[in-house]
Amino acid sequence: MLGWLKEKRRQRVLASTHIDPQLWRQALDALPLLDGMDADELGRLRDLAVLFLHEKALEPVGGFELTDAMRLRIGCLAALPILNLGLDWYRNWYAVVVYPTGFRARRQHIDDADVVHDYEEELVGEAWERGPVLLSWEEVEASQELDGFNVTIHELAHKLDMLTGHPNGLPPLHRDMRVEAWSAAFSSAYDDLVRQVEAGEDTAIDPYAAEDPAEFFAVLSEAFFEQPWLVNEVYPDVYDQLRAFYRQDPARRLRG
Ligand SMILES: [Zn+2]
Repeated sequence: MLGWLKEKRRQRVLASTHIDPQLWRQALDALPLLDGMDADELGRLRDLAVLFLHEKALEPVGGFELTDAMRLRIGCLAALPILNLGLDWYRNWYAVVVYPTGFRARRQHIDDADVVHDYEEELVGEAWERGPVLLSWEEVEASQELDGFNVTIHELAHKLDMLTGHPNGLPPLHRDMRVEAWSAAFSSAYDDLVRQVEAGEDTAIDPYAAEDPAEFFAVLSEAFFEQPWLVNEVYPDVYDQLRAFYRQDPARRLRG
């Protein structure tokens, strides 16, 4: 669609959508990771949440029903990473499938002897390439404290990563960023975490990040918005790159 036409349509959606102030207040109260935002940021976050909920289909499954409060919570969480990027960063996909709890996914693994192994995996979220985002509501709801875990941000970070193809921990960078600086910061932090995990050490960052560079980016994105001071302390170069990429400084915002 032509840019100006899309913009006009979005303005119309915003002008005709009313969010109940009490519902909005509840959404903010449930999301401490939005603390410290000024009125301008909160206004833009609300607009992005409204447009996200309008342009994406939230599809509950398994007999589950989503209330307006639940939809708004997901919309606000989805709006946070793209607050200073814009909704078009979520292009090329359409649906958010919401399960009441964790869900099982069939997996296939082919081992070195070419033997195919079928197995099931218990998941709380997933992002499909050229497909939907899957979320467990139970897990979304659990992101009410700043503990570093946020499944919505995790899966949407994968979506941003997928803008350049198969996820590899390198989303499309802005013109004022350099791939060399990104790679240097992320690979040295990743190698450090892998070493700690292999040595059986306690890690400050969720050890799942050591799975591969794509998971590292998604997990560090969750932590960036939930525990920015921790990321800044443990991997300051990664924090700088994420701040430049998301165009936000949550450590500063959440300090107050
Ligand atoms: Zn992941």
